[in-house]
Amino acid sequence: MKSTWDTRIRRATELSSAYPFAAEGLRFYAQIAMLQQQLYSQIEAAPAQFFSLDGSSWNALNPSALPPKFSNFVRNLGKIAPAALAQRTDELLRKDSAFWLRLLDQYWHSAATTADEPDGSTRGAAEQHLAWLFLQPFAEFLAARHEQIQSDGNARRCPFCGGAPIVGVLRPEGDGAKKSLICTLCAHEWAFRRIYCPACGEERESHMGFYSASEIPHMRVDVCETCHTYMKSVDLTKMGLAVPVVDELAALPLDLWARQNGYHKLHINIVGA
Ligand SMILES: [Zn+2]
Ligand SMILES: [Zn+2]
Repeated sequence: MKSTWDTRIRRATELSSAYPFAAEGLRFYAQIAMLQQQLYSQIEAAPAQFFSLDGSSWNALNPSALPPKFSNFVRNLGKIAPAALAQRTDELLRKDSAFWLRLLDQYWHSAATTADEPDGSTRGAAEQHLAWLFLQPFAEFLAARHEQIQSDGNARRCPFCGGAPIVGVLRPEGDGAKKSLICTLCAHEWAFRRIYCPACGEERESHMGFYSASEIPHMRVDVCETCHTYMKSVDLTKMGLAVPVVDELAALPLDLWARQNGYHKLHINIVGA
């Protein structure tokens, strides 16, 4: 059986030929996902090294086991990263394990922060970004083992870990579609109301809009006129093979349109767009 990581890597490779305007980011993503996949295999092989045995609660992570794995991950990422981010990985590798431990522990317990600045633009943003990429496999491992969480459609942050949503999903239901959101950190997907801003809670239809681009018709961008935030959604009724977090990376024309029109992104994606 193919793992989630294989599915994402394969989709990124497919999309990089279909959408040349996003090929660079998609190829970089595929390499990041391979590093995350290796990390995930290590977690699966020896979960007790990273988690206390009391189960799958968010606090089960044992942060003291992380620094050696983190430095290794950051070193490998530095070898494949664009120059600006590679410089930040070098800087981070010069810090000590106490610094890495604090960074990871804080990130884990404050859940994914909202930021709309390309990774590497400031040192703090780059450190948060690297912590995020490294912690994703740990968060996904836990979320996959956690019991089902019911959502009433009103949660604007992940009901499991408190992370921000990274992409919306429209799944076929009857003659229409139902909406859900996917978490930046643990990849948990939860039901979400169709007309509702995940950033500020706006729910008036007149204050919410969307836009799509002919280059990539199964993606759309939802915007809020109250807080000027945007987030993309993938419409699985139009493209059943899409892998939401990966297709999000391909829809660069929508980021361009949204930013040119004064909207800021709810949360940057893995490659910093
Ligand atoms: Zn989550
Ligand atoms: Zn809003």
